[in-house]
Amino acid sequence: MDDYDPSSMDAQIAQQHILHSINPITETEIIPLREALHRVVAEDIRSTINVPGHTNSAMDGYAIRSSDIPNEETKQFKLIGTAWAGRPFNDKVSNNECVRIMTGAAMPTNTDTVVMQEHVQVDDSLITIDNKQRANQNVRQAGEDIAEGALVFTPGKFLNPSDIGLIASLGIGKIKVIRKLRVAFFSTGDELISIGTPLEAGQIYDSNRYTLWGMLTRIGVEINDLGVVRDTPEAVESSFLEASGNADIVITSGGVSVGDADFVKETLERLGEVNFWKVAMKPGRPLAFGKIKDAYFFGLPGNPVSVMVTFYIFVQAAIEKMMGHEPKPRIQIKAISKSKLRKRPGRVEYQRGTYQLNEDGDYIVERTGEQGSGILRSMSNANCFIFLPMESNGVSIGDKVEIWPFDSFI
Ligand code: AMP
Ligand code: MG
Repeated sequence: MDDYDPSSMDAQIAQQHILHSINPITETEIIPLREALHRVVAEDIRSTINVPGHTNSAMDGYAIRSSDIPNEETKQFKLIGTAWAGRPFNDKVSNNECVRIMTGAAMPTNTDTVVMQEHVQVDDSLITIDNKQRANQNVRQAGEDIAEGALVFTPGKFLNPSDIGLIASLGIGKIKVIRKLRVAFFSTGDELISIGTPLEAGQIYDSNRYTLWGMLTRIGVEINDLGVVRDTPEAVESSFLEASGNADIVITSGGVSVGDADFVKETLERLGEVNFWKVAMKPGRPLAFGKIKDAYFFGLPGNPVSVMVTFYIFVQAAIEKMMGHEPKPRIQIKAISKSKLRKRPGRVEYQRGTYQLNEDGDYIVERTGEQGSGILRSMSNANCFIFLPMESNGVSIGDKVEIWPFDSFI
């Protein structure tokens, strides 16, 4: 098989074609706030309160009236009480009086300025304050974080831990989100054995179902693992029917390369509309994409590294779009290569590497050993892809390369 086949499809075009074909799901559910982490908001979320609810102190110190800020060098104030967070001081504060106040405590009536405790002199109930104070300093205004009625999130927002906290600060305990995606997957191959059974000659353990499970779990979808399916027309057909019956997305690994038995192709052509592509990329050249019944179908190549690369490059963004949020921008950084990388023009490559900052503050990257698409170690040891564009004809030590840190995928 020639990896540099000029009739291969450009990886970016394949990506765009897939994204264009995907329609987001619209069904929603109302769930408790904690379960909404990493889910997608399905309705406007507005604040019914001011956050913070009352004007309060940003410091431990002394609350005074700004009109009392001394004109002379220092001035003495009479301490008339204490305001604690959650336990306000309820009396009025008059001229030349002050109230000891803790961070988060409501500002007593009439006061608008807090003097840090480090900036005063305390002599029993006489507090000396200097003239270096500014009116309204160290005070957080009611509604300064979020004003009552403000639109906080709109549909499509993907919820991170800070977002969950923000919603909690509004006192909202349940929200409407897009329902979880249902993803079914299985592996194909007569040589594959599940863990727990001893290997016989020519057999290998099925690892793709574990990497797929891991990648899907990170995204937060409902997973239906249909196991290993033998390379027979009946087994493949019944698994496709079962998988597509209840799933939004069906993912398989193996069985889509040119050398593979043709019945997979025949079966898929009978059951749905599926395109078989040769993509100008390495790893991950063969790829099938289409629809079976109502489910989108991704036929990923069988090699363990190819499965992961094609998942990250094609499937993840499709899942994100189907979940109702725009694909996250991937972080791309320039790094100095510490390895010589061989490559011919005509396809893009996703080599695996480890990057770090050197003493000069430059990113450097080293490739993780042998880059065969069956060598899962090269992924496991890596913390980034080294992306080599179509026209690249290799990289010398010291050349700049583009790296894609895994943090933005995994
Ligand atoms: P295929 O795409 O089916 O021709 O498979 C390509 C290579 O990947 C072969 O060496 C397979 O044995 C291997 N392979 C396929 N599926 C799996 C799997 N689920 N786990 C580990 N290796 C696999
Ligand atoms: Mg196979």
